[in-house]
Amino acid sequence: MEFEYKCESLWKGLDDDARQAIFDYGERYKVFLDASKTERECAQTIIEGAKEKGFVDFNDVIASGQMPAAGTKIFYNHKNKAVVLMVMGVHPLEEGMHIVGSHIDAPRLDLKGHPLYEDGGLALLKTHYYGGIKKYQWTCLPLALHGVVYTADGTPVNVRLGDEDGDPVLFISDLLPHLGKKQNEKKLAEAITGEQLNAIIGHIPLDDDEEKEPIKAAILRALHDKYGFVEEDLLLAELELVPAQKAVDVGLDRGLIAAHGHDDRSCTYAAVEALLNMGTPAYSAVGLFVDKEEIGSVGNTSMSARYFENVLAELFALAGKDTELLVRRTLAHSAVLSADVTAALDPTFPEVMDSRNTAYIGKGVSLCKFTGARGKSGSNDANAEFLAKLRGLFAKRGVPWQAGELGRVDEGGGGTIAYILAERGAEVVDCGVPMLSMHAPIELASKADCYFTHKAYQAFLEEAL
Ligand code: MN
Ligand code: MN
Repeated sequence: MEFEYKCESLWKGLDDDARQAIFDYGERYKVFLDASKTERECAQTIIEGAKEKGFVDFNDVIASGQMPAAGTKIFYNHKNKAVVLMVMGVHPLEEGMHIVGSHIDAPRLDLKGHPLYEDGGLALLKTHYYGGIKKYQWTCLPLALHGVVYTADGTPVNVRLGDEDGDPVLFISDLLPHLGKKQNEKKLAEAITGEQLNAIIGHIPLDDDEEKEPIKAAILRALHDKYGFVEEDLLLAELELVPAQKAVDVGLDRGLIAAHGHDDRSCTYAAVEALLNMGTPAYSAVGLFVDKEEIGSVGNTSMSARYFENVLAELFALAGKDTELLVRRTLAHSAVLSADVTAALDPTFPEVMDSRNTAYIGKGVSLCKFTGARGKSGSNDANAEFLAKLRGLFAKRGVPWQAGELGRVDEGGGGTIAYILAERGAEVVDCGVPMLSMHAPIELASKADCYFTHKAYQAFLEEAL
């Protein structure tokens, strides 16, 4: 197998062991996806895996009063929605870290504060979509309800409804074509509006003549019986609707996976598996698994919040050092893979891509020198010097890769968390899984691309540059 840049399917020329390794990785990744359908569940899955592999809680490290030695493995749980994994390297932190940063939130439908109402003989839930979605794609799908509700006494109640075998699901209706003449004439973006994304949650009324809204009352009673919360508790809850479907193989050859949240859990899992299984690296290896990327990296669980810098400052404080200076020095000396998915060429929609400058399904992890839109606006434009080092690293470790831009010039564009760590002076490049149907309820990625993205992150986290 030739490992330098090449425009050929990765599957060609693979021996049986290599194929088996890809398929085995795909099975592990599907288990991770099914357990991690929201940012909270994803954070929990990562932390559980880390504990099993001997990672210690950051708070225990701080309580110990000792700067952790090389080889120490640390996890930091940030508000149950973001996670930092660190494996302390041989070199001091301030000489720089190797960081793989991905996001664990995905586009979805959140419930409004007053979600539940009764109309037309049905009980429904009002939603407010999260992230960039095509709204019409969310109708006529089985949907699962995930999240947390706090009762008045402060008790958290975890909700996970619709994803176990035999669970009931929720459903958003669409207009029948027979009566869809006017809808058909609308623009695609307007054919289903945000306020029409109302999820049906039941229709059997309470058998009680006193009840003005007996169907709604029946649902509230069922929710109370099952979970112990009341309508008022929903006002401050975090409940999300996601497709009620497990990750599944696509194709007779089983080479692809259809699942909710490949963006960006394909990159998240690739980094997590590398970090959980690594020895002591030369430079400290870090995984950042952050929230709120899909709404612009805002809020205190996003990449823009300073919790990772606070973690570093606390570690330097253990050694009695100048934390402010050393945090700045550490980040400025660090190398970062902004681990996010990119769009692959879709043969059904080739017109939005420059076929000579796009990533393809099945051709490996994609390096995206810049993202942005309209003249690279908003982009982290990675430095050639840094890219040259990565190229050498991937060649040394036998990682096949491709280079691609997100669409034709002026066709649209997008952004990632890359610019945020770049602002702190780190070398950063976008590097992740090419995929189809990004931001659809169910997205599509190649097992080979997922596997070799893992190999790319593993090489980057383990090796000096
Ligand atoms: Mn993403
Ligand atoms: Mn996205």
